Amino acid sequence: MGLALFGGDPVRRRPFPPHDTFDEEERKNVLAVLDSGLLSGFVAKDTEEFLGGPQVLALEERFCRRFGVPHAVAFNSGTSALHACIAAAGVGLGDEVITSPYTMSASASCILMQQATPVFADVEERMFCLDPVLVEKAITSRTKAIIAVNLFGQPAALQPLKDLALRHGLVLIEDNAQSPGALYRGRPSGTIGHMGMFSFNRHKTMQCGEGGLVVTGDPRLALRLQLIRNHGETVVETRGGEVFFDTLGWNYRMTELQAAVAVAQVGKLDRLNEWRIRLADHLSARLRDCDYLETPEVREGCTHVYYTYVLRFQADRWGVPRESVVQALAAEGIPAGNGYVKPLYHLPLFRRRATKRSSVGNEDGGMPQTREICPTAERLHRSEVLTTNIVRFPATTEDMDDLVAAVEKVFAHRRELAEKESLILGGTRR
Ligand SMILES: *Cc1c(COP(=O)(O)O)cnc(C)c1O
Repeated sequence: MGLALFGGDPVRRRPFPPHDTFDEEERKNVLAVLDSGLLSGFVAKDTEEFLGGPQVLALEERFCRRFGVPHAVAFNSGTSALHACIAAAGVGLGDEVITSPYTMSASASCILMQQATPVFADVEERMFCLDPVLVEKAITSRTKAIIAVNLFGQPAALQPLKDLALRHGLVLIEDNAQSPGALYRGRPSGTIGHMGMFSFNRHKTMQCGEGGLVVTGDPRLALRLQLIRNHGETVVETRGGEVFFDTLGWNYRMTELQAAVAVAQVGKLDRLNEWRIRLADHLSARLRDCDYLETPEVREGCTHVYYTYVLRFQADRWGVPRESVVQALAAEGIPAGNGYVKPLYHLPLFRRRATKRSSVGNEDGGMPQTREICPTAERLHRSEVLTTNIVRFPATTEDMDDLVAAVEKVFAHRRELAEKESLILGGTRR
């Protein structure tokens, strides 16, 4: 059977099922909120209502129990939650924060929101997360914090990063949007840093439309996060014996409707993760012996919850570029992605701001050759990382078998693909 790309029958015609994780519980909770007539429980005043309504409080309480932490503060998105972390850490104008270039943009734009400078350190080749050795090299007297992104469902090198942070007096923030429920040496990711952020946007494992949350073990940070969420010092001047100076706040408050859905989703997290792990294990077992794609590696002593299932493309075994293979897979009915995001320092927003002094720019403010900035992130993105997001509820192992069948089919036809490719290339050259 020929490649679907050249007119053959595709491996699969049906789309993969949408990520619908709701049932009676969410419906019941949302209706109860509507019946109560109270869609947001927040009031910007120094009263009980400063901390939000019953569903928001229930969500925070449920998070504390599930993750074994004393404080949880809900936000209206993961991005606002991250910004609140940076503000609560006391980061401001002239400060530097070290983050990964290979992540969703909010992991770095939250630094710009506090008028600070993002400093990009390169990632580990096999785990795609910040390399602690390179983070240490990027630390200067201006560094205030490190944002460790637990990317694709797996914890970063959290203990080495925590050790570094403590040694240099820095705040470690975990962007745990993609890895809720993953374990690092027996502890949930998100709870190892000083603050850990979660997201409930529609793509995430737990979803409520839009929403975010921060967990922390530090009561002073929790207090600052609550202030930042709800207009800050203009509303609350003192609390818990503390007087607040310059505590700017925003409206980052979560509605009761969002919280009513999120609270039900927390109870489903373990089942949703087990589902992903079962599918990922099935895929990895079936692809283990093929030498043209490398299956995901799990960090020692950790669990992986497969927010994204990432294969590493072995270009020399294929003899065709990754882009052609992804295109051929799409024609076979299998959605896959070329790399993840372009390393963030390529974006003008970060280029303009990150050049004063950092591992990205040089002292006189000029940009070095961008390809040389974070070579591992560059290579992963340009030629090796192949992502798919089909590894999630309610897909089945039969759905996973379609991916394997398509990969095997395209590999078997790689010469045909290469020939057409060179014809096309030859054609354009002439
Ligand atoms: C989704 C995501 C965010 C932002 O969360 P939102 O809720 O969409 O604002 C931040 N960081 C990472 C790594 C993410 O995947």
